[in-house]
Amino acid sequence: MGNCRHCLNPAGFLRSVHRECQEKHNAGRAEILSLVRKTLKEHSALAGLRATTTQMAAESFVDAASTRALVVEGYTQAVEDALADGLLSDEEEDNLVLLEGEFSLTQTELDQKGAYTKVVQAHVLRELANGKLPDKFNVTGSLPFNMQRDEKLVWLFQQVSYYEQKTRRHIEGRSSGVSIRVARGVYYRTGAFRGHPVETTVNEHIATGVLAFTTKHVYFASPQKSFRIPYAKIVAFTPYSDGIGLQRDAMTAKPQVFVLGDGWFVYNLAMNLSQFSAQSQIHN
Ligand SMILES: [Zn+2]
Repeated sequence: MGNCRHCLNPAGFLRSVHRECQEKHNAGRAEILSLVRKTLKEHSALAGLRATTTQMAAESFVDAASTRALVVEGYTQAVEDALADGLLSDEEEDNLVLLEGEFSLTQTELDQKGAYTKVVQAHVLRELANGKLPDKFNVTGSLPFNMQRDEKLVWLFQQVSYYEQKTRRHIEGRSSGVSIRVARGVYYRTGAFRGHPVETTVNEHIATGVLAFTTKHVYFASPQKSFRIPYAKIVAFTPYSDGIGLQRDAMTAKPQVFVLGDGWFVYNLAMNLSQFSAQSQIHN
């Protein structure tokens, strides 16, 4: 006769678990997850969350590793919840940082589904929307292009596939995406980027390289092809779930498409930076 894998007492003939114990275990897991989510969302005090979850875990036979995974999942879901209807507020960001400290979570753990990166990106977008230049981005090593003296790097994407549209078509998605005003900037919610991934069959792959956004230009650098485009020369950005398209103002210019995995951040970044650069030109 085996023992119950949860309470370790005899489980009965041909059984490895008591039904009540399994139910308690499942309920405990769900409770821990929802408590973490709720605490982050409702800005309640985070102090004591560790003690509470530890106790809940003990009562429902949830081990330490599983508890930790549930906390990470709660963090991930809270980030998704927040970005679905707006940018992360200062307070939401502070709560996430507190949770990170409370459970001594590593950035690698939090970034398993990209949640940590999203928090950093949301911070950058909030700064830009407030008319400030973000200082979160540090590049190690040298850049594959030369910036002007008065421009600043805001973000750099690696391993970006660059495509040119084979045939000139109308610019799609010009007004797509649900935007909301955030301070001086604009924000397109994560939900606006589901569907319509880049249809690469109509596009020709030209090169793979680095795509960078500065305060003045979009740069692309690769062994095959490198160029930079001032924001003022771009008439439209097209949002895709896995990248971004842009159209230059020249009549002959083919639409250019960059595939980099996540369209939400790059589109918000491009829209706010082009707005930012237009505003700073007016002020200068
Ligand atoms: Zn049991």
